[in-house]
Amino acid sequence: MKDLTTDSAVIITIGNELLSGKTVDTNAAFIARRLAEIGIKTRRTITVGDEKREIQWGVREACSAAKIIVCTGGLGPTRDDISKHAVAEYFGKPLRVDRDQLRIVEQKFRSLGYKEMPKSNISQAEVPEGAVVFSNSKGTAPGLLIIDKGTYFFMLPGVPVEMKALMKEDVIPYLKKRLDSGETVLSRTIRTTGIGESKLAELLDPALSTLKDPEVAFLPDLFGVDVRLTTKVKSKSKLSPKIEKIEKEILKLASEYVFGFDDDTLESVIGSLLIKHNLTISIAESCTGGLVGNRITDSPGSSAYFERGVITYSNNSKVELLGVDPDVIENKGAVSEETAIQMAEGIKIRSRCEMGLSITGIAGPSGATTTKPVGLVYIAISDGFGTSVKKLQLRGDRERIKKQAAQAALNLIRIRLNDKNLYRN
Ligand code: ATP
Ligand code: MG
Repeated sequence: MKDLTTDSAVIITIGNELLSGKTVDTNAAFIARRLAEIGIKTRRTITVGDEKREIQWGVREACSAAKIIVCTGGLGPTRDDISKHAVAEYFGKPLRVDRDQLRIVEQKFRSLGYKEMPKSNISQAEVPEGAVVFSNSKGTAPGLLIIDKGTYFFMLPGVPVEMKALMKEDVIPYLKKRLDSGETVLSRTIRTTGIGESKLAELLDPALSTLKDPEVAFLPDLFGVDVRLTTKVKSKSKLSPKIEKIEKEILKLASEYVFGFDDDTLESVIGSLLIKHNLTISIAESCTGGLVGNRITDSPGSSAYFERGVITYSNNSKVELLGVDPDVIENKGAVSEETAIQMAEGIKIRSRCEMGLSITGIAGPSGATTTKPVGLVYIAISDGFGTSVKKLQLRGDRERIKKQAAQAALNLIRIRLNDKNLYRN
């Protein structure tokens, strides 16, 4: 097989709910990102409904455009799940019950407490003749790979957690190994937050303007900007001096915005910092309605440092649960520097933690006044060194403002713990 590391892929997402707009197609974006990390560019994404003719049309289009095809959806046991039949028929491979897979599916049902597996689930053990079967650690329908005349056709379940696990554990390692031509693609993602894409690009310009190798991609989203570096190296090497050199330069130019690398998340980074400094934290949220607590507890093991989170939405709750002075709320407002400070100090003291964090703001669309526009948010952090507060003016709709406020609040914890004047790192 030719060196496909520079080749391209087509992604097919299958499902009526994707066409009707009921479900947003997040699978395609995830798959494209993961393929890009190993140097495979996605040429096209095709979305079709759960209909045999449509699916087979998509498969034909995909096969004419690329050698690597990843499709998701419709692998389940229900009537509308017809992807496997449609694809198997297209490639002329009859479906056969795979014994190993049947055992796995039966076992899964037993472990769920069923005496017998529903008959319709036998279909989940059926695979196109000759297909490679990847068992599904997060569900029952396995991932499949049909290899036909140099085309690698992967089929994955539509459920995002199952698809992600199969991509990570099977598809990507498989492609990396098979497409090896003595070279492999290494990538490093430098994760930033608190700075926009164009500002970051400007800041990094001295390091990146004339750079050809590694390739640089800016990947912005609501929460920050990832800078991804990719380069080719000899197969077995795990390191690239070229990437390391640029990474160092990037860190020198933008260290305050970099919170982590590759699979790091802001919440996992904060967790590690809190553990390192042996601190516990509690939070009091108003306009974010629990988003910050939700994200902190996304990290496994967060009970080691997260004491409690309260949603103090009303003025009354800020007084009752946090001890905020009612006069301060009356005179300065619930969305004010003073209230944010008292909220952070209040939750810290009442929960007997070393650190307290608060968020209060106007998520909109209503609630603005002439002096306090929608998107005005105060976040405060209080610890043994005192209390500091940050004012933000965020833009966008309610959901965006809430999410960005939560991100900024988490980032404030990181910045505090990285402050060399306060905490020894
Ligand atoms: P199951 O075994 O659960 O039936 P499946 O392979 O048949 O899995 P679907 O029935 O197509 O998958 O979808 C299962 C779930 O995953 C649905 O909730 C669907 O909305 C979601 N889903 C499917 N495709 C996508 C996609 N491209 N992006 C995001 N979510 C998706
Ligand atoms: Mg289904």
